Amino acid sequence: MGFDKDHIVMLPFLAQGHLIPFLALAKQIQHRTGFTITIATTALNAHYLRPAQPNTNIHLAELPFRSEDYGLPPNTENTENIPLNVVGNLFTASQHLEAPTRRLVSDITEKEGKPPLCLISDVFFGWAVNVAKSFGTVNVAFTTGGAYGTAAYVSIWQHLPHRSVSSEDAEFHLPGFPERCRLTPSHLHPFLRAADGTDSWSRYFQPQISLSMKSFGCICNTIEEIEPFGLEVLRNYLKVPVWSVLASNISSQKYSGKKSGISAEKCIEWLDSHASDSVVYISFGSQNTISAYQMIELAKGLEKSGKPFVWVIRPPVGHDLKGEFRPEWLPERFEERMRETKQGLLVHNWASQLEILSHEATRAFVSHCGWNSVVESLSRGVPIIGWPLAAEQAYNSKMLVEEMGVSVELTRGVKSNVEAEEVRRVIELVVDDSGEGGEMRRRAGEIMEKIRGAVGEDGEAKGSSLKAIDDFVSELHSQGEGRG
Ligand code: UDP
Repeated sequence: MGFDKDHIVMLPFLAQGHLIPFLALAKQIQHRTGFTITIATTALNAHYLRPAQPNTNIHLAELPFRSEDYGLPPNTENTENIPLNVVGNLFTASQHLEAPTRRLVSDITEKEGKPPLCLISDVFFGWAVNVAKSFGTVNVAFTTGGAYGTAAYVSIWQHLPHRSVSSEDAEFHLPGFPERCRLTPSHLHPFLRAADGTDSWSRYFQPQISLSMKSFGCICNTIEEIEPFGLEVLRNYLKVPVWSVLASNISSQKYSGKKSGISAEKCIEWLDSHASDSVVYISFGSQNTISAYQMIELAKGLEKSGKPFVWVIRPPVGHDLKGEFRPEWLPERFEERMRETKQGLLVHNWASQLEILSHEATRAFVSHCGWNSVVESLSRGVPIIGWPLAAEQAYNSKMLVEEMGVSVELTRGVKSNVEAEEVRRVIELVVDDSGEGGEMRRRAGEIMEKIRGAVGEDGEAKGSSLKAIDDFVSELHSQGEGRG
């Protein structure tokens, strides 16, 4: 396109589920435009990104940030390393990235004789709108979530609609959505359930989200073909241009600085030894875990189902997620039995998720419904068994069941009394091709094709996601020209 002198600064929130799509978006924009891109983040997060950073014009700028200054353990500037009781401090503290970001943008402006073409900031970093404005450039908010989940998340934080109901099972309407879209307080994470506008979470999210809504536009990590309803709601709600660009990591197996609990070869070897479409994959993303009670029930349910499984396992809620895994967190001799019978592979802490989802043996995914996991799963045609835990995951799960028909929700949250028998029943339902499970698989397969089409290019014909990037860049240039 010949705009290779332009520069974009990207500001991801400090969590794996945000870093991964930010990097993927950076790569896509860079590939299509030749722009220079700087991803600005703290040292630890830059360290996570570095191994996956291509050698092209994508740079990592380290923003100074001392987690100890904000009541966090040292070197913990990523949600995955932070005990739940202080994770709120990280959100609040992230606002202190504004000053070093200003210095970075100022340096770029001085060096290049013009400000960056735009700042692409995480939807949680509303302060970036003011930074962009003071340098005479524009800010575009990037939501790493899907359209439905983002619209619900933004709407709930802005309106706190759950305050109108008094019981856990009472339904409330989601502002900005059609009347039929209703939630109950059980869809909300406990801190959001308790939010009333005066608590520390509200004091962070409400102004940051409202500021982000003043961005010039929004890039949403989805595609028109799979989320027509979600995008319609999001566009109506935000009232700014929304470009839908699929930025989850669906093509490259190789992210990140993180160490897997098993070598990719061993994991593949294990999957190779199982029949096609037989294995259930279980993972709760990069930062969540379930309770000790739930872990035992899940293990028993998996064993009862008799289905082979790969489970990325971490210590239960209330324990150090990086700490040693204790055998008493599982039924007696469970791990040994699974090894002997080859029914289950337990991978501690982290696995190469996309490789597992891409393997022909994988049939279903017990997932917390983090948006990247959802997209990765659907990009491989793998239906989902939902177990949402935090953030916008329960809204994603609702959308997967009600709008897409590719999932069954097994349970919700870390407090539920899910039982082994229910785990067995739902797994069997989804893996069984003859009934509902077969239908879900068929729909997941259709979505897989749509995703492939949206990110693909064939001569002149380009998929909707690529077209959205090109439209976005053209719009930025029109803006840039307008500014002279
Ligand atoms: N992930 C992975 N291995 C793991 C756990 C997570 O590769 O053991 C990756 C996963 O593929 C996804 C990201 O981490 O790209 C998690 O993002 P998601 O939005 O699903 O959930 P979050 O971690 O933000 O809750």
